[in-house]
Amino acid sequence: MIITLKNQKDIEQRESLIDWIKDLGLDVHISEGVGTTILGLIGDTSKVDIDLIRSLDIVDSVNRIQEPFKNANRKFHPADSIIDVSGVKFGGDNFQFIAGPCSVESEKQVVSIAEEVKKAGATLLRGGAFKPRTSPYAFQGLGVEGLKYLKKAREVTGLPIVSEIMSADFISDFEDVDLIQVGARNMQNFELLKELGKINKPILLKRGLANTIEEWLMSAEYIMSEGNENIILCERGIRTFEPYTRNTLDLSAVPILKEKTHLPVIVDPSHATGINRLVRPMSRAAVASGADGLLIEVHNDPQHALCDGAQSLKPEQFAEVVVDCKKILEVIR
Ligand code: PEP
Ligand code: MN
Repeated sequence: MIITLKNQKDIEQRESLIDWIKDLGLDVHISEGVGTTILGLIGDTSKVDIDLIRSLDIVDSVNRIQEPFKNANRKFHPADSIIDVSGVKFGGDNFQFIAGPCSVESEKQVVSIAEEVKKAGATLLRGGAFKPRTSPYAFQGLGVEGLKYLKKAREVTGLPIVSEIMSADFISDFEDVDLIQVGARNMQNFELLKELGKINKPILLKRGLANTIEEWLMSAEYIMSEGNENIILCERGIRTFEPYTRNTLDLSAVPILKEKTHLPVIVDPSHATGINRLVRPMSRAAVASGADGLLIEVHNDPQHALCDGAQSLKPEQFAEVVVDCKKILEVIR
């Protein structure tokens, strides 16, 4: 339920309304806009007497929210949320390029890719240290050692780092990672989401392999309901019957999410298509659809990459994508 207050300055009446709602056992999310204040009520609102609230002097309107996600709902927070990742901002008028290898393979590899993607226009560096592989016999990532090399690359380039967490047991190892990724396979690992809700770090929440947009927003809600509102959503393709691409990039999710939520939305055309030559056109399309950023796999030697070489761009190809996307941004913004 949301209560829109009249544009007035009676702080006392407002506070007593908030106290009264809290006494009913509900949480109140306050969103201050230009000239309006919106109170978002979270919890079982069936006990709330809507007519009574409507009759209050300070209240402009009261509406029930049909969707099950509340904190993530744009009705709760009409303005775009700006998520600050160590000084790099997502959302609003900002656009960011996250680039780097699927997995961190060595210090030399990740530092050199970091330098090259930075030169090409990347604003954050990605690299998997803990890899969710379909086969237990495939390279599983360098783990904590991989995080160490990523930090070295950050030291050299100044780029904030993004890496995937697979278990809440490792949260302390990610303390110094700027943006923690929850991969597609863990989008509904609710225990992990709850733990990530208790820390104060930006989370990059990828869409599950076969999840609806609503389920995805409910996963964001899991993190937000524990107190962490720093979430960036990432569309990375979903499973369909189409075998010519690794997944099917659901770009209509971008404008839908822009309506439904205030959280920033980025697109990963690498995992969505699985084919490097499709990354450039789909990056262009993602920008045109209104995305707030891109996540692109870049490797200096894709043919010998330990993971996802077929979908990885070379740094010079990534540079071309950045140029294209900046041109499109100029047109649409
Ligand atoms: C990744 O980003 O390397 C990754 C494993 O992505 P996803 O969870 O989208 O498959
Ligand atoms: Mn990958």
